[in-house]
Amino acid sequence: MIYCDYNATSPILPKVKDAMLEAMRLPLNPSSVHSYGRHAKTLIEDARISIASSLGLNLRKDGYELGFTSSATEANNLLISNFLKGRIIISAVEHPSIMKYKEYYNNVEILSVDSNGIVDLEYLEKLLSDPVSPTLVSVMLANNETGVIQPVRDIARIVHKYGALFHSDLVQGPGKIELDILDMGIDFASISAHKFGGPLGAAALIYKPAYHIKPQIIGGGQERGLRSGTQNVPAIIGFGVAAKSCRSQDSKLRDELDRRIVEICPEAIIFGKDVGRLPNTSMIYMPNVSTNIQLIQFDRHDICVSGGSACSSGVVKLSHVLTAMNIEEDIANCAVRYSFGSESLSDDVEKIVEIWRRLYGEARSSESR
Ligand code: PLP
Repeated sequence: MIYCDYNATSPILPKVKDAMLEAMRLPLNPSSVHSYGRHAKTLIEDARISIASSLGLNLRKDGYELGFTSSATEANNLLISNFLKGRIIISAVEHPSIMKYKEYYNNVEILSVDSNGIVDLEYLEKLLSDPVSPTLVSVMLANNETGVIQPVRDIARIVHKYGALFHSDLVQGPGKIELDILDMGIDFASISAHKFGGPLGAAALIYKPAYHIKPQIIGGGQERGLRSGTQNVPAIIGFGVAAKSCRSQDSKLRDELDRRIVEICPEAIIFGKDVGRLPNTSMIYMPNVSTNIQLIQFDRHDICVSGGSACSSGVVKLSHVLTAMNIEEDIANCAVRYSFGSESLSDDVEKIVEIWRRLYGEARSSESR
């Protein structure tokens, strides 16, 4: 099996699995006052510190808090739902956990992107110069489909100049590039453990307690009242271990893939290739071969890759990211995402290129018939 879909989820790291199995041996409820409970509390506080420090934060000193959630989808929902009575500006390429708010609320405005998928900073200034309080601006760090990295420092500077607040969905960053929340100037951030060797079902919202975020789930007041419900202790421990093991990646395999594909087919399009991208990601157009056909054929050869956005039924829909980048529909419908990770090998590139060449060659010869 060749796994080249790390932006969807990553294999769990062996040391994460070991730490989680160890935690599962004990009855660990951090709200209990007995020694198991106190042990659980210490473990999740240690994880909280490790995760924060992997993002360049010393929580108390830097004036941030980190609350555990079940997913980044939940963390994004939790934050956005706090601004529904104000104004929310989101980029046109956000993950559906943010994007979908546009369908339900008319105070959500869309910040357009250019043909590389980078947000329009002038338009952001124009939107913000019409002051509404409170205003939240949400722009992701790196796009899950194309890997394109947004100029978050510049966005933070503009947002703060107009007295608004800035949230960035950092989900695709950890394990791929170095992150420093203070340096980026972000007020709120979301991350998810399963994208960098941690378990599914553990994520976090990083926030400034000064802004009094109201919970969506109420009850026993866990996570300092941010999210009630007994914490998933083994998953949080795994999250902490994954954060400690987090290293940035180099772009060797991805660059080799890009180079080889353009050599085979100069008309291939690598979306966002002229701007900063995650070192592991490439979304590539293969002329005249639909995303679905490519995915089926790669799968037949035991290669796991993705279309732009798969909905929960697994059906590939037209990518809202490529649409926002003004890519024509017949091109967007032939795009596949390759995302490498810690276990990827140069042999994986060879195999992907071999199948790519075959599929493209077959499409060309049936066209010329
Ligand atoms: N944000 C981005 C950019 C993502 O890529 C994803 C998952 O693909 C999410 C949010 C949602 O993360 P989770 O799977 O933890 O809900």
